[in-house]
Amino acid sequence: MSEEKTLAQKLEEKLLYKPKNLGQTRSEEEIKAAFDFCENYKAFLDASKTERETVTYAINRLKAEGFAEFEAGKKYSAGDKIYYNNRGKALIAAVIGKKSLEEGTRLTAAHTDCPRLDLKPRPLYEDTELALFKTHYYGGIKKYQWTATPLALHGVICRQDGTSAIVNIGEDAGDPVFCVTDLLPHLAKEQAALPIGKAIKGENLNLLVGSLPFKDDKASNLVKLNILKLLNEKYGVVEADFVRAELELVPAVKAADVGFDRSLIGAYGHDDRSCAYTSFMAFIECKEPEYTAALILADKEETGSNSSTGLDTSFFRYFYEDLALSAGVNPRAVFSKSKCLSADVTAGLDPTYPEVHDKHNAALLNYGVCLAKYTGSGGKYSTNDASAEFVAEITNLLDGEGVQWQMDELGVIDLGGGGTVAIYLAALDIDTLDIGIPVLSMHSPFELVSKLDTYETYRAFKAFYK
Ligand code: MN
Ligand code: MN
Repeated sequence: MSEEKTLAQKLEEKLLYKPKNLGQTRSEEEIKAAFDFCENYKAFLDASKTERETVTYAINRLKAEGFAEFEAGKKYSAGDKIYYNNRGKALIAAVIGKKSLEEGTRLTAAHTDCPRLDLKPRPLYEDTELALFKTHYYGGIKKYQWTATPLALHGVICRQDGTSAIVNIGEDAGDPVFCVTDLLPHLAKEQAALPIGKAIKGENLNLLVGSLPFKDDKASNLVKLNILKLLNEKYGVVEADFVRAELELVPAVKAADVGFDRSLIGAYGHDDRSCAYTSFMAFIECKEPEYTAALILADKEETGSNSSTGLDTSFFRYFYEDLALSAGVNPRAVFSKSKCLSADVTAGLDPTYPEVHDKHNAALLNYGVCLAKYTGSGGKYSTNDASAEFVAEITNLLDGEGVQWQMDELGVIDLGGGGTVAIYLAALDIDTLDIGIPVLSMHSPFELVSKLDTYETYRAFKAFYK
């Protein structure tokens, strides 16, 4: 028995923009496909906790898929698969399309670096017969979240003889972990009265790495000496080698399902490995694309995209220029005709902190891939503001493929803000739109995303590369 719809109900359907929850719009099979996809994503997160490990993972996958290292000057034809490894920390890959490069490319750009604690160049010292490492945090962290929690040490140490040692301690069962100590509440009256941003000082993020003195008592700093002896035995390094090292402390926790319904994933590094993984998977599955398909995994986004592996530098421009010249095409034409999805996470609306969001423009968990016309901060500073025409093109494309999307702003205008790599790609005259996954507890050691949003974002990249 169906009742006739009122005029208001008909108009509501016709005129109102009403985003929907994927949990209601997706079938049981589609939800299962999303959950299955996320099992592989969780394995990727556990295997790739630093920018170097992410690039290593990606290159191994690319090689298995038949990608070969890019050679400038070489002629490439449709279907050829290439990659460029930038110092083991950033990556560009491309599948040559059927159309000429002159008609542009379809590019996604995510970042591989995450907030963490880095070791200082001269980290090791002894105090009170305990051995510690000095750290310098990397990116935007809330310092109190990094104390009294198990941390794993990842990275590389270059020895004076030109060889190097890869370090990865704290991930395998039975591995030791490390931690930054915090004050007991009993004696923290003064600390507890400080604003949260000042309660833990950067110089107090000291990592406890040992307590047992070397037996011989004729030298000084015997606990420190004992640690150096162990490091020398395991890695063949001496104290001076720390100055030529990149050692990163990351949470020693594995990705886990969160919630009775297992609908969420808690893990370190969703920002931005959720976008790196979803764009990468869509990219390697794209066979014989019309337009050349390209993918960037960039480093140093969290600290401003500088250094030789960040996107505010030249490696991407050089790669595209070399690729264009190899094909006998004017590089400028390739940039100007290309279209880019800048893949990065956004803030999901947290019911505990709704006041930091404009609820009319906030991203909701389980409402699909997020588009952001602009990011930046109050007054639209420091952002790529995508044109209405390009937003129309992408939303039409997603609608055509049945991908569920939502348009969002990061948060309340005057409270802060954040940027992405979009500005550096737009600076090359590439139409660029921010796209990504909503996250709760962003930049914390245990960030949260929804499995359905993650899968929908992968579907968005699939549609884009098609
Ligand atoms: Mn990010
Ligand atoms: Mn970030």
